[in-house]
Formats: sequence, C-alpha cells, structure tokens
Amino acid sequence: MDKGLPAILITRSRLAEGVVDWSGQLPLDEDGGAEDVDLVGPPAAVLRADESGSGGIHVTGRVSATVSVRCRRCLVSEPRELEHAVDFRLEPGVDSWDEAPGLYTLDERLEAVDLLPALREEFLLSLPDFPVCRPDCKGLCDTCGTDLNEAACGCETAATDSRWDALRQVAGGSGADDNDDTNQGG
Ligand SMILES: [Zn+2]
Ligand SMILES: [Zn+2]
Repeated sequence: MDKGLPAILITRSRLAEGVVDWSGQLPLDEDGGAEDVDLVGPPAAVLRADESGSGGIHVTGRVSATVSVRCRRCLVSEPRELEHAVDFRLEPGVDSWDEAPGLYTLDERLEAVDLLPALREEFLLSLPDFPVCRPDCKGLCDTCGTDLNEAACGCETAATDSRWDALRQVAGGSGADDNDDTNQGG
C-alpha cells in the first residue's frame, strides 16, 4: 500500500458475529494490471464474507467492470461489460507460492484483513486471455497492414509458384490438399 491506496478491510471480530456484506468500487490501477485491457471506470464489487470453518474467510459475490478491450488480431479497441462471479477463501497456513485457484494466504495475526489483493487477482482472472473483437475477426494483413475486416488488400500472402504444380503432376503426386476447417463456435 505504498501509494496509500484504500484497502477493503474486513475485521475478524465482525466476522465472528456473522456474515459481513460489502459493496463498492475496487480501487485498482488504470489497466487493472492487464495487457490489452483498459478500465473505463473503476470495477464494482458486491461481496459477502463469512467464516470458512477452518479459521479462514470465505468470500463470494461478483465483480463487474466496463473495460476497453483491444482485439489481438485487428488491434481495434472497443468497450465491453465484464461480470465475474467470485468465490474464494483466505486461509491461514496457505503457501503463497501454491497456485491453487481461489485460495489466498491469510495472516492470522491481523485483526483487519484486506480483501483487495485477492480481489485484484480475481479480477485479472476474469479478463479474456486472448481478446478478439469477434470470433471470426480476420485481423490485419501481414504485408500492408490493411484491416481485412474492412477491405481485401490483394497482397499475395502465401506465394505459390505455379511451375511447381506442373512438376508435382509429372511426378504423379496427387497434391492432396487438406482443407482442415475446424470451426469452433462460441
Ligand atoms: Zn478484431
Ligand atoms: Zn495486404
């Protein structure tokens, strides 16, 4: 907390009395720490914290944000609404290098526990790994940089020399051409 960023604190004495509800904005950096993604506004969270039953804290709820996502193929940025359900635990004795999903270290000595580091991690996990503007985005031409969604540029991408075709026919090769169209919907 060098920059004096606000924390999201849950006190363990209040948790001992019952569930603690929290809602508000997550004070994250401008890009949330992610490539190709910019936060349009601060993400909001609606959370419920409860004792986990093993000395830790169980947090459920959801995080939502409006982000500007840049397509990896055509590099066009566009706004997108993200909504991500969170369900994670902070437990004592968890090794912070142990990359178990949804499991974070709890310092038992602290009376007030900051949920922000875990929420920041959960938010980053909710972001798309390989953002594309649409599944069939054609991207940019490698040669001239034209956005192939908008125009065909006419560049010869994989130059095939027709003279070799004639040689293959002489050699009796069938020229098997596998059109492996693996269309994955969604
Ligand atoms: Zn695109
Ligand atoms: Zn081109």
